[in-house]
Amino acid sequence: MATRFENGIVVTLGENNRVLWNATVVSDGELIAAVGEAAEMKRRFPDANPIDCSGKIILPGFICTHHHFYSTMARGMGIPGEPASNFVEILERLWWKVDRALDEEDILLSAQLPLIDCIRNGTTTVIDHHASPAMRDGSLDMLEDAVRQAGIRASLCYEVSDRNVAGGGVAENKRFIKKVGKGDGQIAAMMGMHASFTLSDATIEECVGIAREAGVGCHIHVAEDAADREDSIAKYKMPTVKRLEKLGVTGEKSIFVHCVHIDEAEMDLLAETRTSVVHNPESNMNNAVGVTPLLKLLEKGVLVGLGTDGMGSDMLAQMRCAYLLHRLANRDPRVAFLEAPQLLLGNNALIAERQFGIHLGEISEGRPADLAVLDYQPPTPLSEANFLGHLIFGLVDATVDTTVCKGKILMKGKQILSMDEARIAARSREMAPMMWKRLQELE
Ligand SMILES: [Zn+2]
Repeated sequence: MATRFENGIVVTLGENNRVLWNATVVSDGELIAAVGEAAEMKRRFPDANPIDCSGKIILPGFICTHHHFYSTMARGMGIPGEPASNFVEILERLWWKVDRALDEEDILLSAQLPLIDCIRNGTTTVIDHHASPAMRDGSLDMLEDAVRQAGIRASLCYEVSDRNVAGGGVAENKRFIKKVGKGDGQIAAMMGMHASFTLSDATIEECVGIAREAGVGCHIHVAEDAADREDSIAKYKMPTVKRLEKLGVTGEKSIFVHCVHIDEAEMDLLAETRTSVVHNPESNMNNAVGVTPLLKLLEKGVLVGLGTDGMGSDMLAQMRCAYLLHRLANRDPRVAFLEAPQLLLGNNALIAERQFGIHLGEISEGRPADLAVLDYQPPTPLSEANFLGHLIFGLVDATVDTTVCKGKILMKGKQILSMDEARIAARSREMAPMMWKRLQELE
């Protein structure tokens, strides 16, 4: 059934961004049937179900190109002993225990909660990176079920690493990639890998072989901390990107997450191989690992997107963090005004297109009906010419009222329709202390 999201300010984005006041987006099935002036849309689609969007702005649903759903239950957890003093200690003391402590129900709950958060924040597409060594086989199916129930789109993968067992997770990826095949536009699959410093050449070669045969990309953390670069140089006599390129991990469908500690030659390799990079500014700041050379990567023509790395699901907040970080890091108030929005609004859509085979991030006829409707009364004139100013200084703090994915309304009037948020959160509060206890008992 068709729906008219009417009387709002529509920002189409895409190649020819248009800002349309008192406008309507009509969805029919999973796609956008028309966009235009409200009265005209009402005349053309009189039978469509009307949703009033006055006082609101309608944008394409947001995309997160690197997330970790499984990190949810660590929120508020105490870690015994001295605070971790560097990145490797953060992994050893926190994340490599969290993932091992997750049981079956924890995996489900810790996917459902960030999925709800995605809907709350208008994030309708996610590229996730999952790890749960104690409950590994079949974990991606559980995530898939949760994603379908939530109603958003997700590309899923399992984080292969040699740290618990050699090649752990290869079979789970292989099975899931085969099951998903070319995907249905809602679920896609990648070959997930942790990072160069936890992967042997043999494991990487096996992963690349599976990915190549299936025609999917690899999703891997790259040079997040200097430790990853130093490890690669010490063991393999070459920096991280070079090692991964030599082993065939690069490519148009592959995602290299972070790329904080890379040199110019590695940046050139990323550009030459058309490998995407995903920048996660909040996570990098939280782990105190350094600053991704974002402006230089963009200058070299590398496709850089924006992710949260599990810090949350609010992509507008992440965009503003990137904007602020790169102004400060470059000590230059002229930069990042165009670049930070470009990562979120343009580049993330291009990266998602390589995974899902569909053109997201644009409100126009025939495109997927993925929408984020935010409360926003512009205090100054708003047009194509000054949209980015409103985005960075106004919309970033606006509340999402309605979220639509594949033409289906997942949240309306700030009420999540596809999932029972209160029940899921209550159950997670019951389960989390047990997960924390199991974690304390791990070596
Ligand atoms: Zn990550």
